[in-house]
Amino acid sequence: MNRRELLIGAGYGIGALSLASCSTAPSAIQSKPSRYSHYQPIKASMRRVTHSVVGLRPFRPEGYRLEAEQLGNKTVVHNYGHGGGGISLSWGTSIVAAQLASKPLSRDIAVLGSGVMGITTALLLAQEGFSVTIYAEDFPPHTTSDIAAAVWLPSSYFDREIVSDKFLAQDTHIIRGAFSRFLTYVNRPKYGVYWHNYHLLLPEVRHFKRPLPGGNDLYPELAASTEDNLFGYPFQSYMKALLIDPMLYLPALLQDALLAGAQLKQTTFNNRDEVLALKEKVIVNCTGLGASKLFDDTSMYPIQGQMTHLLPQPEINYSYVVPTSEGYLYMFPRKGAIVLGGTAVKHAYGTTPDEQLTKDLVAGHANLASKLRL
Ligand SMILES: Cc1cc2nc3c(=O)[nH]c(=O)nc-3n(C[C@H](O)[C@H](O)[C@H](O)COP(=O)(O)OP(=O)(O)OC[C@H]3O[C@@H](n4cnc5c(N)ncnc54)[C@H](O)[C@@H]3O)c2cc1C
Repeated sequence: MNRRELLIGAGYGIGALSLASCSTAPSAIQSKPSRYSHYQPIKASMRRVTHSVVGLRPFRPEGYRLEAEQLGNKTVVHNYGHGGGGISLSWGTSIVAAQLASKPLSRDIAVLGSGVMGITTALLLAQEGFSVTIYAEDFPPHTTSDIAAAVWLPSSYFDREIVSDKFLAQDTHIIRGAFSRFLTYVNRPKYGVYWHNYHLLLPEVRHFKRPLPGGNDLYPELAASTEDNLFGYPFQSYMKALLIDPMLYLPALLQDALLAGAQLKQTTFNNRDEVLALKEKVIVNCTGLGASKLFDDTSMYPIQGQMTHLLPQPEINYSYVVPTSEGYLYMFPRKGAIVLGGTAVKHAYGTTPDEQLTKDLVAGHANLASKLRL
C-alpha cells in the first residue's frame, strides 16, 4: 500500500472526525487582515530542523485495558493500550489502576513501565504509603510518552464501531478526572502544562454530531466559525486547550514519584513468567505496546507517528490541525521546540524517521505559514 495513502492525522482528527473526503486546499483568500494578524508565522525550514522522531501509539480497537486479573497468587492490574490519547488520559486511568492495586492491601507493589502511565500510577500509590518499585526497560526521555505531541485532547484510542457502551460511560468519568488533575499543574513551570490556542481547520463546513471527549465544558472558548479563520480556511473549530510538554512533565512527575518513595529498577521482561516471578504480589502493568507480547494481547497494534522538531519560537502560542490532500498537518509549540506532525500509519513497527517525510512536513508547514498574512 502507498505510504502516502496511510497518512492521517493526530489528536483530534483520528476517530473523532471522519475527514477522508476533505482533501481540497482552502479557496477563500481574505481581503482584509484576519483577526489572527497578531499571530507570528512559524519559521518552517530545513535549516531549523533539530531532529525527527517516530513513536508507536499502542492502539486497541476496544479501548484501553483497565482491570485486575488474578494470576496464581498474584494480582495483575492492567493499565495499557491508550492509543493516541495516553498523555491526556493518564491521570484518569491511573487513579482507577491505583485503586485496584490498593485493594489486596499488599504493602509492596511492582509497577511495570515508566511511561506516563507507570509514573503516574507509581506516584499515586507511593503517595498512599505503598512501597512501590518501577521496573522498566526504558525511562524518560526514552519512552513513547516522551514522543507524544502532547495536546490534552483524549482521542484516537478506540474504534467507535467496536467499543462498548460500558467502556464509553466509564471513559467519560476517566476523561473528566484526568482533566481536573492536569488543571492543578497549569502554569507551574517545571511541569510544562499550559493553555494555548487550538485551531482545527477544515475546507468545508462541518456539523459535529457529538460533544468533544468528556464534554464541551472541558474546552474553554470552544467556537466554530465560517469566516475570518486561520490561514483563510472556510471552517474552523477553535478552543483553548492544554498542552503538556513531555520533556518537562515526565521528569518532573518521576521526581515526584521518587520523592514519595518509589524506587526504579531497569529491567527487561521477556515473557509473562518473568513478570510473575517478581517478589511483589501486586503488579500494575503499564507497559504500553509491550503488553502485547508480555500478556499475549493480540488485539493491540501500533499506529506509527513521525514528528519533526524545529528550533523554538517563544512568540508562538497557537496550534493547528489541517487536512491536506495527503492527510493532515499539525503544529504544537513547546518551550524547547516547534513540533510538526504528522503521520499515523497502522501496523507499522519501525521507529526510524523517514527523511523525505521530514522534508515534506517542513514544506507543508512552510506553505501554511505563508498564508498567515494573506
Ligand atoms: C506521534 C505521537 C503523538 C501522540 N500525541 C498525543 C497527544 O497529542 N495527546 C495524547 O494524549 N497522547 C498522544 N500520544 C499517545 C501517547 O504517547 C501514548 O498513549 C502514551 O505515551 C502511552 O503511555 P504508556 O505509559 O502506556 O506507554 P509508554 O510511554 O510506551 O511506556 C511503556 C513503558 O513500559 C516499558 N516496557 C514495555 N515493555 C517492557 C518489557 N518487556 N520489559 C520492561 N519494560 C517494558 C517501556 O520501557 C516504558 O517504560 C501520541 C503518541 C505518538 C506516538
